[in-house]
Amino acid sequence: GVLLLGSERKRAFEKFQKTILDILCSSFAIAIENAKHYEETKRKSEHCSLTGAYNHGHMKGMLERYFQMRKNGQMQDISAILIDLDHFKNINDTYGHENGDIVLVEMTKRMQKLTEGKGMVFRCGGEEFLILLPEHTEQEALCFAEDLRKRIGETPVMADACLGGKGQVSIQVTASIGVAAATEGDTDSLELVRNADSAMYLGAKKAGRNRVAVYPYM
Ligand code: GH3
Ligand code: MG
Ligand code: MG
Repeated sequence: GVLLLGSERKRAFEKFQKTILDILCSSFAIAIENAKHYEETKRKSEHCSLTGAYNHGHMKGMLERYFQMRKNGQMQDISAILIDLDHFKNINDTYGHENGDIVLVEMTKRMQKLTEGKGMVFRCGGEEFLILLPEHTEQEALCFAEDLRKRIGETPVMADACLGGKGQVSIQVTASIGVAAATEGDTDSLELVRNADSAMYLGAKKAGRNRVAVYPYM
């Protein structure tokens, strides 16, 4: 913070006035420091430290907020997209845990890039992510999810070889994706996530992986 004291008059300020300002400024400085610490702590409490995506705790808060807005008529549609990376354990086993982490970070970047200005990316845990898309219909969320699936799979992740290997490795990643939209009268915000999860598991993962499915999956 900067405080500038000026006057067009020469020697406009008395010594005692400067002393008062000095005292006030030490309080301002502390207030600014506190505000910075508060922002930093808040940011840390809402984000996953590895990927930079929002964390699971913040996901619950945002879901509740969106559902409340919908109840108040401030929002119409809410869609959720659940992403589970395919055979991620194999990626860890083949290329090493460190490279597994690099894949998680790169996938988060791809999700965030596509989601920018439209919604939020959360890491729910492990290799599972949730994207919340306010004001997106089921059809719009489905197009978005299909686009995301292509972006995840079209370019492999390049990383340094681990586990005693040399040179670079090219890691091919795919994801199984479930889409769900809140329907008329839905009040349980976590139900939306459960529905997206069910579509992901039954419609995408069990049907062969690397695909998108919509809830309810028949
Ligand atoms: P599926 O296609 O059925 O989803 O198989 P999967 O291997 O992706 O699923 P599974 O649940 O068997 O394994 C998930 C793996 O993700 C196991 C765990 O070690 C790994 N994992 C979870 N969190 C992290 C992390 O932060 N970093 C790394 N590198 N691996 C993680
Ligand atoms: Mg999983
Ligand atoms: Mg998985």
